[in-house]
Amino acid sequence: MGRIVYLNGEFLPEEDARVSIFDRGFLMADGVYEVTTVIDGKLIDFDGHFARLERSLGELDMTNPMTRDVWLDVHRQLVARNEVEQGMIYLQVTRGASGDRDFVFPDPASTPPTVVLFTQANPALVDSPKAKKGIRVISIEDLRWGRRDIKTVQLLYPSMGKMMAIKAGADDAWMVQDGEITEGTSNNAYIIKDGRIITRGLSTDILHGITRAAVLRFAQEAQLPVEERSFTLDEAKAADEAFVTSASTFVMPVVEIDGSPLGQGTPGPLTTRLREIYIEESRKAAL
Ligand code: PMP
Repeated sequence: MGRIVYLNGEFLPEEDARVSIFDRGFLMADGVYEVTTVIDGKLIDFDGHFARLERSLGELDMTNPMTRDVWLDVHRQLVARNEVEQGMIYLQVTRGASGDRDFVFPDPASTPPTVVLFTQANPALVDSPKAKKGIRVISIEDLRWGRRDIKTVQLLYPSMGKMMAIKAGADDAWMVQDGEITEGTSNNAYIIKDGRIITRGLSTDILHGITRAAVLRFAQEAQLPVEERSFTLDEAKAADEAFVTSASTFVMPVVEIDGSPLGQGTPGPLTTRLREIYIEESRKAAL
């Protein structure tokens, strides 16, 4: 693919970037990540992602290995070196490789974190064929651990959920805990009923989406009523519209839940409007 990636202070061709087999990200999923979107060669909500990275690291007793300005510079250099117009930048920080396997955290003074970043070009983010049609979701039980607010690289269950959806002929899965939707496998979940936008409140049950925060802010600015509360699977199936948000999909319409079509079975008007507002406003504020 010929990508230039970043590993521990160096920009390298992807085939030359190597990480130890003792890396705790590899052995124990002991690491965190972020995904920042690039539109027009610029970063969407960089500071939101940086703030969440700091929080995730702090919750795991890790220190941030670089300042905001260095992170920003590395992101920008990767965009430039790989000529990314539209796509994503993936970053990962693990607790490093102490040279052995041990449940006890290594001393950070002798085991520095492993820092990896790479680009993923995707020219169809804004003009997404999926967003025009909407996606179909199935519901699955939420079997993840209890600290979903930390953006760890431990993504096996979300990955299994996505596979369950694909096997069922759908696009994605919404996870259900005690009859209520938590979130999608890699996105936050919303329904719209009688003009009200409803999404689960923030807690350790879900990831605090950076796109979620922006979309709720834009909705309030556009005087669209928002309710941050849990909603049930039955409520979702009876909703007028539904959608998910994430850095790479923005606002993505959901048109079917467990085989039941929502509204007309096509992307709803409020969802479509929110997607337009989100893309327009985010583009204006991009760094
Ligand atoms: N929830 C989960 C479980 C996710 O994996 C993601 C995307 N990483 C999100 C929500 C959306 O977060 P963001 O808007 O910051 O991409």
